Amino acid sequence: MQTQSGSTFNRSPKQHFSEIASSWRDSSKSYLTDLASIALLLLPLTLSNALAIFLGHVCRVSGLAELSQLLFHVSDILINLYPSAFCVVAGYYLSHKTNVSSAVFIIYSLVLFYLVSIENGSLSATYMLPNNPLIALLSATLTYVYCTIFKIRLLEPQALDFSSRLLKHVAHFFLFVLSALALSQFMSLLITGFGGLIDGLAVDPLTLQGGLIYQTVLGLLGSIGINGHNLLFGIKQQIYAATQANMTAWQAGDATLNVISQGFYDAFMSMGGSGNSISLLLCVLLFARERNHLMLALAATPLVIFNINEVLLFGLPIIFNPLLIVPFVLVPLVSFLVTYGCISSGLVPPVENIVNWMTPPLFSGYVAMGNQLEGSLLQLVIIILGVMIYRPFYLAYAGKFSAQFRANSAYTGIETSIFKTLLNNVRDSNNTSISKASAQKRLTSILREGELVMFYQKLQSTKDVNIFSYEALLRYIDKDGKLCPPTFIADFQMLNSMPLLDKLVIEKVFADMQQMILSKDRRVAINISVATIEQEDFVPHLFARLAHYGISPEWLEIEITEEAILSNKVFLINTMEALQAKGIRIAMDDFGAGYASFPHLLKYPFDKIKLDRSLLLDATDQKGKDLYGLVAQLGHVTHCEVVAEGVETLDEYQFVEACGVDKVQGYYLAKPCPLIQVLLEQ
Ligand code: C2E
Ligand code: MG
Ligand code: MG
Repeated sequence: MQTQSGSTFNRSPKQHFSEIASSWRDSSKSYLTDLASIALLLLPLTLSNALAIFLGHVCRVSGLAELSQLLFHVSDILINLYPSAFCVVAGYYLSHKTNVSSAVFIIYSLVLFYLVSIENGSLSATYMLPNNPLIALLSATLTYVYCTIFKIRLLEPQALDFSSRLLKHVAHFFLFVLSALALSQFMSLLITGFGGLIDGLAVDPLTLQGGLIYQTVLGLLGSIGINGHNLLFGIKQQIYAATQANMTAWQAGDATLNVISQGFYDAFMSMGGSGNSISLLLCVLLFARERNHLMLALAATPLVIFNINEVLLFGLPIIFNPLLIVPFVLVPLVSFLVTYGCISSGLVPPVENIVNWMTPPLFSGYVAMGNQLEGSLLQLVIIILGVMIYRPFYLAYAGKFSAQFRANSAYTGIETSIFKTLLNNVRDSNNTSISKASAQKRLTSILREGELVMFYQKLQSTKDVNIFSYEALLRYIDKDGKLCPPTFIADFQMLNSMPLLDKLVIEKVFADMQQMILSKDRRVAINISVATIEQEDFVPHLFARLAHYGISPEWLEIEITEEAILSNKVFLINTMEALQAKGIRIAMDDFGAGYASFPHLLKYPFDKIKLDRSLLLDATDQKGKDLYGLVAQLGHVTHCEVVAEGVETLDEYQFVEACGVDKVQGYYLAKPCPLIQVLLEQ
């Protein structure tokens, strides 16, 4: 979410610090959301890999050696493709935050990824594919930075200035390739430097001390969302090579098995994923009181079984969470010491197999220790120990979480109180007329049994698809979960309850706006009724709520229907000017729907007019068409932005575009949708 700008001069150090803290919170939140979304988009690939491994093991145990080999081969290919897929998905995801087309963005990301990987020799030995997901993420992120700094317009074949755009695209891409080349040289220096630093520390992960340091670094990297196995890939390769050499020597009878090996790390330090997340999962399943924690744990279970912990890590979240990072780092260290102690004292045999990292815990221990039950038993002990370590930290976090949750409920308490007043008002209205009595009955059941929610419909510029705003529209979800249009608004009007309903809508929309990416050019419009506008306390109430939610007035637009204009002229003009002075824009809704619209346009200081669909429906003959064009021009003469409402078809779109409207709203472009969809598309 963006923050409001203000003067830097009269802020105290405390305010300054809290602003920095809040901007850090915002950016880390968006980093987390980005990482989580990318990880989730890749789940089909990771799960297919897990399935191939699982079926491979099943075939192996059932004596179907060839089929088992084939399945492991498929898994090997998928694992090798993973970093490239990661780059594509990250590129696709980040492209939506720029005005560059996704296809172009992905090409840029892949070019950077391959260039850096080739220059630095980080290619898989078997398939010569780039093998480092961290570089993949970095490539997509740098592409994002580049495309944000050096903006470029879409390359559309039908554009009149196609050749000049093409030239700009070539220059843009060529400069990018040159920068990528320079970067890859720099990275190579950095990686050599980092490798040198690690070598300088003389950390040998095959010894007790070196292993503990290596495991701590892995945990700390994991706690900021970085897969340490990728960053410390060189070390991992060394461990792998040393393990293979030791096993060959052991098989030839020339050496005993090392206590610490690749299998040691894979089977005992990453059960359920990094941080031995399976212990955390069990901890949540056993002790969670929050329903959403339990739901999260249940959803993550099928993944954690195959050592994929992204859903759990990002869902709770663990990364950047000072409380949960402690056990996340500590549990693998304790597991390390316990496994080391058990093996070196001869209590359990040493690890003699490298097990695929996706093999489920308990089974992986069994295979790692050469099909010995001791392996599974040791894993079980470590998992239980892990649960005991995670428990106090998780409970402290969950307690804090519920306190926060309670605070948040108090925060939205105003919404609850408005709702109660609304319900009481409707129920208590003593109506004698039949129509009012039935409106009262309908509304009482609506408010008691269902839920009022906000939907958002896009209004898109005819000049640039990347310029758009939203209109907030009220919807009702009935007790059976059916979504209904706001036909009940007429009932509220009849019972004089519109001001309360509008207040409720304001609370809901402002809470949603906190989560959206908004600006002066990407606003949310709220429909406000006549009765509300006429209230003395409307303007102060609106400003107070904006300040409460930390929303800039410049992100807001208010739509007033023409009937409102029939009320007290001076009062309305004063209200409009007070709103506009703070940056709120005001639109005249349903222009041309019946009242005498034209004079109002001159009398009142509107910023925008929305041409009603009925005008468009009348534009079937030349006269109607001319009228539509004239009305659009009239809007421009009065310096208003002109919006065409209710555009349902391509023909209608082309017609209103030709009439010179600035923005279009209608089913042809987008239907009203829930907040979640808006957030996903941003
Ligand atoms: P409106 O402000 O003119 O909103 C536009 C209406 O047109 C919406 O109907 C929208 O769903 C519909 N619409 C959008 N595109 C098309 C299209 O291509 N074809 C057709 N035929 N219709 C389209 P909705 O949501 O049923 O709202 C009806 C009216 O109810 C709104 O008209 C507005 O006056 C009122 N309303 C809706 N939400 C609120 C609210 O939160 N507060 C207040 N006070 N009034 C609201
Ligand atoms: Mg409207
Ligand atoms: Mg309208």
